[in-house]
Formats: sequence, structure tokens, C-alpha cells
Amino acid sequence: MPRDGLGPPGAQHVVVIGAGFGGIAAALRARRLGYQVTVVERLPAIGGRARVFQQDGFTFDAGPTVITAPQLFDELFALFGERLSDHVELLPVRPWYRILFADGRHFEYGSSAEEMRAAVAAFAPDDLAGYDRLMQRSRALYEVGFDQLGAQPFHTARSMLRALPAIIRFGGYRSVSSLVAGFIRDEALRKVFSLQPLLIGGHPFRTSAIYALIPYLEQKWGVWFPRGGTGALVSALEGLMVRHGIRLQLGRTVSRILVSGGRAAGVELDGGVRLPADIVIANSDAPHVHAALLPDPVRRMRQVDRMNYSMGLFVLCFGTDRSWPDVAHHTIILGERWRTLLDEIFDGDQVPNDPSLYLHRPAATDASLQPPGQDGFYVLAPVPNLRAGIDWDRAAPLLRNRILKLLEERVLPGLSGHIVTERSMTPQDFAHDYLSRHGAGFSVAPTLLQSAFFRFHNQGPIPGLYLVGAGTHPGAGVPGVLTTAKVMESLLAAETVH
Ligand SMILES: Cc1cc2nc3c(=O)[nH]c(=O)nc-3n(C[C@H](O)[C@H](O)[C@H](O)COP(=O)(O)OP(=O)(O)OC[C@H]3O[C@@H](n4cnc5c(N)ncnc54)[C@H](O)[C@@H]3O)c2cc1C
Repeated sequence: MPRDGLGPPGAQHVVVIGAGFGGIAAALRARRLGYQVTVVERLPAIGGRARVFQQDGFTFDAGPTVITAPQLFDELFALFGERLSDHVELLPVRPWYRILFADGRHFEYGSSAEEMRAAVAAFAPDDLAGYDRLMQRSRALYEVGFDQLGAQPFHTARSMLRALPAIIRFGGYRSVSSLVAGFIRDEALRKVFSLQPLLIGGHPFRTSAIYALIPYLEQKWGVWFPRGGTGALVSALEGLMVRHGIRLQLGRTVSRILVSGGRAAGVELDGGVRLPADIVIANSDAPHVHAALLPDPVRRMRQVDRMNYSMGLFVLCFGTDRSWPDVAHHTIILGERWRTLLDEIFDGDQVPNDPSLYLHRPAATDASLQPPGQDGFYVLAPVPNLRAGIDWDRAAPLLRNRILKLLEERVLPGLSGHIVTERSMTPQDFAHDYLSRHGAGFSVAPTLLQSAFFRFHNQGPIPGLYLVGAGTHPGAGVPGVLTTAKVMESLLAAETVH
């Protein structure tokens, strides 16, 4: 096993473009295979969307906050004989979510199978039997979609043909919403079990029912929050990379992938510096790789233009000089509208007047991220991506005010006058900072026709090039992108000669 040094003399060199969770996991897996590994990241820190802002005494995670399937992180430490738990403590979250409805009712989601059944029985007793059947289906989907197909490469039509019977058998051609409606009658409860696609950038009425695996995944592995925030998990991974000789070049942007003799041969950075490599692994947004980093004959512009992209996100971090101790760690605030609101977010060209929101209050689990007696939040509104042509310089302040008013009315009474610090990100920032095509929050959307073989392949269009991250198979979300690196590893291992 390679330790501390940079691999055996003459070890082949891998360059990884981008240090999101997908790139980090890919770098570690390539290192474990014995490669010398260099990661090039355009931002000043690693983590990608799992970004942290330190501001006025508050630590704001600005990306993922719901950590599921933590065993995928354990695996990365175990590759090098280490344990995740020696470097970061994962705290259980209770409840997993609280979901607020416009009519004043709320649903306490999780934090165990028993608590879920009790919550369903109290909320919509007639739906308990249907809920039990829905969970059986969720488990079956998990076993096929996550355990069997998730970590398998899908770069050949034959692999898709092999998987097709299972996808059809479990209704993968339907949408999550349509599947859930077959089991649950209560309209509000239907939303509770249909909203998960939004967490990976999908319209619940268009996302493949395969993603109805998420409720079972949560029950099997739990919902966690790292002590010190998601940033603490990123720091632990950075330590692992550095301890095992992975080189990081931060604040450098790859401007193109070099090709020689029809094979990936390295990368060129902004400013013209070249890093030769035997293998290139791109964690930069997959459509961006094809549209901007690859040379003409191999880029796939038709595919890039034709695809549907996930929605954009408006993220507002704010700190207050008082706290709201009764507010849960994860609160989802739904408005009156559901389907028309979703259509407006995915197809419309305006910021919705009545956004539905996700509110993150880490103080519910971890007191270390804000000054004592105060609260640090981030609130997230799904919005149209940049294809909608919204002028975000004008729209952002209006949306910010709308959101804070809504929060004050429904969750944080007395909020006005207590905000002491804030910052926001719009889809424009996603495009600028992460080079995310159309400023999409989660790359291309998780529809059936953009999943598995139909998503960007982990095996690139030229030998020696691999792709990982949200736009590739199996897709977005932290468990998804960590799995893209497992798929990449199996492909890379097949071409590795030692
Ligand atoms: C606000 C928000 C909340 C979320 N919440 C959750 C959650 O609670 N749970 C969950 O599981 N998922 C969540 N997600 C989804 C999850 O965070 C993402 O799907 C995942 O982190 C994306 O990882 P990635 O590997 O695709 O890369 P990214 O995080 O997108 O990182 C890619 C990196 O590549 C860099 N890069 C791009 N181009 C270049 C270049 N040319 N040269 C050098 N570097 C480059 C970028 O700067 C970036 O750092 C959330 C996402 C967002 C945005």
C-alpha cells in the first residue's frame, strides 16, 4: 500500500480536476491503486459545493448538510488502514427532518423506522398500511438501485440492457411522485415521500422512481451531521489525502485536457502551465468537461445542449444575535402550491413568489458553529437555473426579502432586526465559482433518460480519461458522487498494470 511517499519510482501519474467529494474520493482511490496523484482545484479550498464560509464568528456550511450512507466515507479511510471515527465525529440528527405545511400541520420525519411508523399513524392513520408497502418497495429499489447497479459501470449499451429487466420490474420508468401516489392517499403525506428528488436536483414528477430508494437508505444508515459541520468532514479527508502523499494545487483552474495520440495526456492550467499525466480524472461538471475542456473532435456538444439540467439554488446564510431553540436541524417549509410551483422552478423564467424552503439550523445538533446563545442558519430556495435568463443582480435582493418574511411568519418569529451577518449565492455564483453549466445546483437532472447509460459516462470519450461527480453515473448527492468514484476505480483498476 502506498504510504507517505509518492508511490514506487516510475509510478504513473494521475491528475484529478476538481476537489468536490467526487474528486476527493477518486484521488484517494487512485492513490490506493498506486498512482502518484495531483488534484487541481480552482477554489482556494477543497470540498467543492461542500464549501464553508467563516464570517463574524459563525461557521456556515454552504452545501450538503444531510449526511447519509456514512459508510462510504468509512471506506475511504479504510483504504489506508485508518478509521473515519478517529478524525471526525458523526452526530445523529433528531428528527431527520421536520416538514411544515401551509395549513399549519407538520410532519416529524424520522429518526428511526419505529418513529416513522408512529408519525405516519398519527398524521394519516388510513395510510399506515400503504406506507408499510411503500417502504418494502423502497427497500427493493435500494437493493437493486444502490447495492447492485449504483457502483456498476454503465458505459456500454450492453450494461444497460442487462439492467433493464430490474428497472422495469420495479417501475423505474415511472416518476417518484407517481410511485408514491400508488401507495399513499393523503396529499400532504404524498409530498413527504415525493420531495426527496429535490435533494438531488430532480422534479419529483419527472425523476425516475428508482430514487424512491432514499427513504429506505435513510432508515438503513441514518442521517448524520459531522461535529464542526460538513467542513470538518472535508478537513478530515484533506488530512487523509495529505498523509498519503496526494498533492493539492489550490486556486488553479484547468483550461483544457491535453490529448496525445488519441489518449488523455495531462491538463493545461490557466496561464499555460502544463501538467503531463498518464490518467486524467475530471470531477469538474461533466457537461463543462465536454463543452469546454475537451478538443473539438471528442467533445459532445449535442448531448450537452440536449440534456435537461437540475434547478438552480438560492442559498442565504445568516447569523442572528438570538436563538430559536425549538427549531429543528432540518426544516422543510412547503407552501400552498406543489406541482405548479415545481413546474415554475424547472420550466419557468421567473423567481417564484411563494418559494418552498429548506432551513438548516446546525445549533440543534452542534453548539460549536455559532457564538453562544446565537443561531447560524442557511436557507435554500430551489429556483430556475440560468437557462431561464433571470437577472440575478435584481432578483436576489427581492428573493432574500421574500424568504426572510416567510421565515419570520412561519418559523422564526421576531427575526427582523436580529440578523447580524449574512451572505448569499445565486445560480450565477454556481456558474462562476464551480463552473457549473447553466448554474445548475446538481448538474444534469436525474430523469430515467439521463440515468445510468444515458448519463455522462465514468469512462471518458478517450482512453485515459475518467469522469466522476454529480453529472456522471450514478449521480448527485453525497452518496451518489462518492459512488461515482467507486465506479471509476473499477474501470481504472482494469487498465492498471503494476
Ligand atoms: C446547497 C446545496 C445543498 C446540498 N445538500 C445536500 C445534502 O444535504 N446531502 C447530500 O447528500 N447532497 C447535498 N447536495 C448535493 C451534493 O452536495 C453534491 O451533489 C456533491 O457535493 C457534488 O460533488 P461533486 O463531486 O460532483 O463536485 P462539486 O462539489 O461540484 O465539486 C467540483 C469541483 O471542481 C472544481 N472545478 C470545476 N471546474 C474546474 C476546473 N476547470 N479546474 C479546477 N477545478 C475545477 C470546482 O471548483 C469544485 O470545487 C447539496 C448541494 C448543494 C449545492
